[in-house]
Amino acid sequence: MNQEDLFKNLIAHCKEYGFIFQSSEVYDGLSAVYDYGQNGSELKNNIKEYWWKSMVQLHENIVGIDSAIFMHPTIWKASGHVDAFNDPLIDNKDSKKRYRADVLIEDHIAKYEQKIDKDVTKASEKFGASFDKEMFLKTNPNVLRNQQKIDEIHTRFAKALNDSNLEELRQIIIDNEIVCPISGSKNWTEVRQFNLMFSTQMGSVSEDANTIYLRPETAQGIFVNYLNVQKTGRMKIPFGIAQIGKAFRNEIVARQFIFRMREFEQMEMQFFVRPGEEMKWYEYWKEKRMKWHHALGISQNKYRFHNHDKLAHYANAAADIEFEFPFGFKELEGIHSRTDFDLGRHQEFSGKKMQYFDPELNESYIPYVVETSIGLDRTFLAIVGNAYTEEKLEDGTDRVVMKIPAALAPVKATVMPLVKKDGLPEKAREIMDKLKFDFNCQIDEKDSIGKRYRRQDAIGTPFCITVDHQTLEDNMVTIRYRDTMVQERIPMDSVNKIIAEKVSMKTLFEKQA
Ligand code: ATP
Repeated sequence: MNQEDLFKNLIAHCKEYGFIFQSSEVYDGLSAVYDYGQNGSELKNNIKEYWWKSMVQLHENIVGIDSAIFMHPTIWKASGHVDAFNDPLIDNKDSKKRYRADVLIEDHIAKYEQKIDKDVTKASEKFGASFDKEMFLKTNPNVLRNQQKIDEIHTRFAKALNDSNLEELRQIIIDNEIVCPISGSKNWTEVRQFNLMFSTQMGSVSEDANTIYLRPETAQGIFVNYLNVQKTGRMKIPFGIAQIGKAFRNEIVARQFIFRMREFEQMEMQFFVRPGEEMKWYEYWKEKRMKWHHALGISQNKYRFHNHDKLAHYANAAADIEFEFPFGFKELEGIHSRTDFDLGRHQEFSGKKMQYFDPELNESYIPYVVETSIGLDRTFLAIVGNAYTEEKLEDGTDRVVMKIPAALAPVKATVMPLVKKDGLPEKAREIMDKLKFDFNCQIDEKDSIGKRYRRQDAIGTPFCITVDHQTLEDNMVTIRYRDTMVQERIPMDSVNKIIAEKVSMKTLFEKQA
């Protein structure tokens, strides 16, 4: 099955099994806004916990906050978002569809990358063990031609972005004969800048002074609280402040399911350091964050670093951790060295000192900041996309199983009485009553045991505990493992302990050390 069909199946599965619903579905939906269902919100909460504890619990010098979404409007002037938080948009005159000019070009470059990947795969299949990938990349004429094309477009593209040259962006689209994926035509409008912030009115009088913005990033709530936290927490540099919260962007093109939403959630950490030490910390956090991803057990080949072509107005270094989604490698997380830009601007605009007194150096300065910023929804998509597996079993039947890491699974275990009589439901309840204090568990009494296993596979429950007539005699139950489908008899009173070991986040934390 190709990636596109698999992705469609995943979206349908997320709906059918209570992970993700289109927002306002009964009114035909609201574009690029989604609701998380009963299983989705459990998984989302578990991802949050994994991130929060990795930051706050594992680092003695990081604390967390929860700042308001509404903030003083001057914050967004100071941060540069009112003037510079724009995307370049372009319309196709035939399909009337709107695109981000930069994304059209990036996708075009990705096509050449895919051609190279295909050539490499073909050659490695042909030459087997003797295949020398590096040599092939350096010498194969097809690869060299495609690489030259990538380099040419890339150089022009990076320059156009850095010069904010909208005409040149359009010219790159024209010169490379990039067509609209819907109409197939090259009939493009000019490229225009489009500000991504949502605004609304606070108070009852709609004057300009009352215009406030829905925050497009959570970071500013950290910057304007940095001294409050530093003083009340007696934090010493280097230290970090973490936050999880909603952010809003009026995205020009919002397709690809929960990858690009207009309302989404970020998990951000701002790390305050001595000026001049930011590059050391930037490298440190790049490595640390990659370990956090790898600890989830998803193939490491699915992640890569990508340096920014254009640095944001606040950054002196920036890299993305990209993940291979079903639609290609795309940004999952950003690690940015934000210099003293934000704190410096808040000092300027608020007139309040943003300096930190460093007792070791005996001097005051505005700290430099290294940020790690990850999208919760994109992480969710990476995890469910990787977990979703359609399997053909030995007996010829099919199953769909969500191989979600056990520590993040929405439901940790489901207890199943084999039949709904003879005292088995009561026994199952006894087990459930012990489990529920430790884990989110369910009881399932309906349908055949096979059907019940399939239902649990479909939501990613790592363990099923089956109670049968024998259990009444020897207090032994069957534990069935989701991924291998192996079944074992175990004593009833060891169930909690066995599950606890397997679902603990501790193993994820230890892998990051
Ligand atoms: P992109 O280039 O994909 O628009 P960005 O570079 O604007 O992303 P950042 O401003 O660095 O993104 O935001 C940090 C993180 O927030 C991103 O790595 C991503 O995971 C998440 N994010 C940003 N925009 C969205 C969105 N519209 N929907 C879901 N997640 C988002």
